[in-house]
Amino acid sequence: MKKIAVLTSGGDAPGMNAAVRAVVRKAIYEGLEIAGVFNGYQGLIEGKIELLELGSVGDIIQRGGTMLRSARSAEFRTLEGRKKALSQLQKNGIEGLVVIGGDGSFKGAQELTALGLPCVCVPATIDNDINGTEFTIGFDTALNTVIDAIDKIRDTATSHERTFIIEVMGRNAGDLALWTGLAGGAETILIPEQKYEIPDIIERLKSGSGRGKKHSIIIVAEGVMSAPELAEILKREANIETHSSVLGHIQRGGSPSARDRVIASQYGAKAVEVLKEGRGGIAIGMQKHVVVDYNLTDVFEQSNSLDVAMYKLSKELSI
Ligand code: ATP
Repeated sequence: MKKIAVLTSGGDAPGMNAAVRAVVRKAIYEGLEIAGVFNGYQGLIEGKIELLELGSVGDIIQRGGTMLRSARSAEFRTLEGRKKALSQLQKNGIEGLVVIGGDGSFKGAQELTALGLPCVCVPATIDNDINGTEFTIGFDTALNTVIDAIDKIRDTATSHERTFIIEVMGRNAGDLALWTGLAGGAETILIPEQKYEIPDIIERLKSGSGRGKKHSIIIVAEGVMSAPELAEILKREANIETHSSVLGHIQRGGSPSARDRVIASQYGAKAVEVLKEGRGGIAIGMQKHVVVDYNLTDVFEQSNSLDVAMYKLSKELSI
C-alpha cells in the first residue's frame, strides 16, 4: 500500500483532530502518502480530496471539532453513491481509508470494504456506544464538560435548596449519564438501558428530604425523556418542584482532554499499521487497557453492554 486517505464522519467529537494528526504523521513516518477527505462520505463522493503533509496537521491536537469537517450523507447509503466514492478513491490512487466516526460511519466503511477498498475504523463519539471498545474518542472530554456543569449547578442547588434535573446526551446509550452521575454524586440517574419507576424517584427524593437533605441532582439521558418532561411529571405526581437544565451541544465541543488526545493518537497510529498490512474491515479500540484491532462485523453483532455493576454502585452510594 502506497497511498491512503482519512476522513471524519457523523457527529463530531473532541479528539477527532488528534486522531487525524496521528493518522497523517504515522502514515508519513511509515513512508505512505496520505490524503485528507473533507466533509465525510459526502465529500468523498464529491472528490474533496487533498494530499496532506506533516505541517497540514500542526497545531490541531488541542482543538475540538475536526479540521476535515464532518457530514452526514444520504447518498452514501445508496450503492450508486458508494460506487461514486470508490471511483473517486481509485482516481486519486488511494488504496486504503481510515474512517473516524461513530457506528453509522463504521457501517459505511464496512460497505466500502465490501466493494474492495480496505477501510479501518477509529471510534470517535461522545456516546461511548461502540461494541468491542471500552472507550471511544471524545467520551472523556464530554464527561469532564458535564461534570464541570454539574458542579456549577450544584452550587446553586445547595445555596437555594433546590432539586435540579440535568439532561445529558445519549439517545440509546447511557454511558455519559451513568459516568457523570456517579462522578457528580447524582441522587438519581435515568438511562435508556435500565428501567425506572416514577414512584421510586419520588420516594428517593422524599426520603432524602425526610432526613434533612435540601437539594438533589437528577441526571437524565436524552433517550429516556427530556428534563422538562420529567420536571412536569414530578410536579404532577407529587407536587415536587424542580429546575431543569439541558446541557445540549456544549457536551460535544471544547478542547480534548489529555486522555482523549492520548487514545486518539494511539488509535490513529494503530489504524495506519493495520492498513499498511493490507487489512480492511477492521475496527480499532481499547480492551482491558490495551489498544487492539478487531473485525468490524463484531461491532454490529455484539450488543454494547452497559456496566451494570457501575449502575448498581451509583444507586448504593446515593441512598
Ligand atoms: P454519531 O456518533 O454522531 O451517531 P455516526 O458515525 O454513527 O456518528 P451516522 O449519521 O449514523 O453517524 O453515520 C454517518 C454517515 O455514515 C451517514 O451519514 C452515512 O453516510 C454513513 N452510513 C451510515 N449508515 C450506513 C449504512 N448502513 N450504509 C452505508 N453508509 C452508512
